Amino acid sequence: MTVPAGAEGQPQVSSAAGCGVFDVAVVGAGCIGASTAKHLAEAGHSVVVLEKEPAPALHQSGRNSGVVHAGYNLKPGSAKARFCVEGSRRMRAYCREKGVALEQGGILVVAQDEVQTRTLEDLLARGRANGVEVDLLDPDRMAAVEPHARGVAALHAPEGASVDAEGYVRALVADAEAAGAEFRYGQAVADLDALPARVVVNAAGLHADRVAGDVARDVRVVPFRGYYARLDARAAPLVRSHVYAAPDPRFPFLGVHLSRRVDGTVAVGPGAMLAFGREAYAFWRVQPRDLAATLAWPGFWRLFGDAGFRRLLPGEVRKSLRLRAIEREARALVPALPPGCLARFTAGNRAQMVDRRGRLVDDIVVRETDAAVHVLNAVSPGLTCSLPFGEDLAQRAMAKL
Ligand SMILES: Cc1cc2nc3c(=O)[nH]c(=O)nc-3n(C[C@H](O)[C@H](O)[C@H](O)COP(=O)(O)OP(=O)(O)OC[C@H]3O[C@@H](n4cnc5c(N)ncnc54)[C@H](O)[C@@H]3O)c2cc1C
Repeated sequence: MTVPAGAEGQPQVSSAAGCGVFDVAVVGAGCIGASTAKHLAEAGHSVVVLEKEPAPALHQSGRNSGVVHAGYNLKPGSAKARFCVEGSRRMRAYCREKGVALEQGGILVVAQDEVQTRTLEDLLARGRANGVEVDLLDPDRMAAVEPHARGVAALHAPEGASVDAEGYVRALVADAEAAGAEFRYGQAVADLDALPARVVVNAAGLHADRVAGDVARDVRVVPFRGYYARLDARAAPLVRSHVYAAPDPRFPFLGVHLSRRVDGTVAVGPGAMLAFGREAYAFWRVQPRDLAATLAWPGFWRLFGDAGFRRLLPGEVRKSLRLRAIEREARALVPALPPGCLARFTAGNRAQMVDRRGRLVDDIVVRETDAAVHVLNAVSPGLTCSLPFGEDLAQRAMAKL
């Protein structure tokens, strides 16, 4: 099976030249690939990780909100719910043990009206079903948690935290290396069959469908850019931890939140905008091959034809171009934000799987062949899920040896 891989302009290799045969080759050194490698190496297996970039965590795993999610918003029984709830607890303990920066200030999800309050009640039920610590607060109790947040009710999840996401992935890599795993950077995998390993784990994130080849013909990664602003020095003290808007249940990755990061920056976002390339992090950047792949996908046009999706589009375009549009949404949550308090910050692209019928695939998807395990939809909160999810992938790979 030969598959084109890697982003535009990157050197592509078809094998990890010059090494012996490993038990497992992992493609991608994001949090999922690094966690898988750590679990495999610690179980005594020989592992090579092939990463096309010069360092780990340069895409989704280092370009996210840095939130350790609690798991109150995930469908009970889903793989995401299971991995997130366990992952959140394990990740917080792991980061404390390894000295990775982590602040556990909790998450407040704020409702502005009756309809959103019903959404919070649904989240409360989900949280309880998932075994997450959650509570519904009236405005007085809300003010005790976040004095400047305003709304008619709020859901509080005290287990929510901020983490240094890149530092976390580097700790996973260091653990994997200490257990004997080999990381090879600057190697864009182009042919899974040529890899010097008995089993392959494809954790290639935004390129996972391409790396999977025939195994993923019925789905496609459509990249959505999440772009962030940040609060200036006047406004940052108005947010203690994480203040989220109640989500639209149909598009749960939309909706602004204000998040204090471990370095003290308060990020506002992410918006969600179709990206014109899988690694195109600026609005006008186009990666022609990726854009052509999106436009050629029937599922994209079905999604585009969905009336609800089309209604959201102008607002998301406005927000991605004009800080004032983000500021308006942020001020609905924290009315004391002074005018002009936002500056542009950063962006990260989500590897969102869209099926042929135009549905945004919601849960993690893993597909297996005799000698490969493909991670096809490690969507948010994939960072939070990564310890138990990587362990699960390692077990799947070991079962094939
Ligand atoms: C904007 C945004 C906000 C998010 N916020 C959160 C959050 O707050 N909390 C949370 O829990 N989750 C969050 N997530 C989700 C989380 O970041 C992802 O689920 C997770 O990082 C996915 O990790 P990964 O290892 O699968 O992918 P990636 O981190 O993208 O890693 C894939 C790696 O594979 C490499 N690669 C690709 N193709 C090849 C190839 N052919 N050969 C070799 N290497 C290759 C890439 O270079 C990359 O390093 C967010 C995601 C985004 C985009």
